[in-house]
Amino acid sequence: MKFDLFELAGQVAVVTGCNTGLGQAMAVALAEAGADIVGINKSAPVDTCRAVEALGRRFLDLRADLADIAVIPRLIAEAQTLTGHVDILVNNAGIIRREDALHFRVSDWDEVMAVNLKAAFFLAQALARLCIEQGRGGKIINVASMLSFQGGIRVPSYTASKSGVMGLTKALANEWAAHGINVNAIAPGYMATNNTAALQADEARNAAITARIPAGRWGKPADMAGPVVFLASQSSNYVNGYTLAVDGGWLAR
Ligand code: NAD
Repeated sequence: MKFDLFELAGQVAVVTGCNTGLGQAMAVALAEAGADIVGINKSAPVDTCRAVEALGRRFLDLRADLADIAVIPRLIAEAQTLTGHVDILVNNAGIIRREDALHFRVSDWDEVMAVNLKAAFFLAQALARLCIEQGRGGKIINVASMLSFQGGIRVPSYTASKSGVMGLTKALANEWAAHGINVNAIAPGYMATNNTAALQADEARNAAITARIPAGRWGKPADMAGPVVFLASQSSNYVNGYTLAVDGGWLAR
């Protein structure tokens, strides 16, 4: 196999929520493969910017709260100012709220759906419109979850949003494949980040989760690097609408 199949030189990737965790690891991996990065974050992505620039790639720092989709046209317009085009979108920004379904609050439903599902759709729509205008295809990578496949406990809006992300990935792939736009998703398993800090800190849950993972360990942000570069590169040109689990075997069990 020729490894330049994974080359991303000359491409621009927008990565949401890349100041930390999985988004940071994916932004740095895409830069390692040669892409310039546009980060969309609520707060300063200091370490990510430094890591991308240390690789000799450009980093454009855009700030926004994706809970409000009114910001999206401006973001995509600004993203184009880096090199004149945008080729890849990683819809990574996400939040979770934990509460018994019986007591779940409307705000915890709306906030999770707004960031995890609504913003992901409208960002994808904006990028797809641009890609069609540019006429050189594109790659959209959504971040799904084990809870795209399973129900989970005490996280109803998260499960609904991530199940929606997997459905949306298929729906958009069907509409946009003819334009050379690949829409796929990555479903991370249990990864050690801020998002799972409460679970990691719960000794009993942590031990139970680790015991059920065939690989015998929680995932690390770096475990996302290969999958995201694969789905962003020409290696995956005939992969459409698929959600790739990166879970140490959790779903296989
Ligand atoms: P994290 O909390 O470390 O990172 C989440 C990122 O999203 C942060 O950069 C945060 O600032 C950003 N974000 C949240 N709300 C935002 C908003 N309104 N506007 C803009 N940015 C916003 O968590 P993570 O684990 O790195 O999560 C990244 C993605 O992976 C999320 O979509 C999450 O649901 C998903 N995921 C994580 C795991 C895991 O085990 N950690 C498992 C499955 C899926």
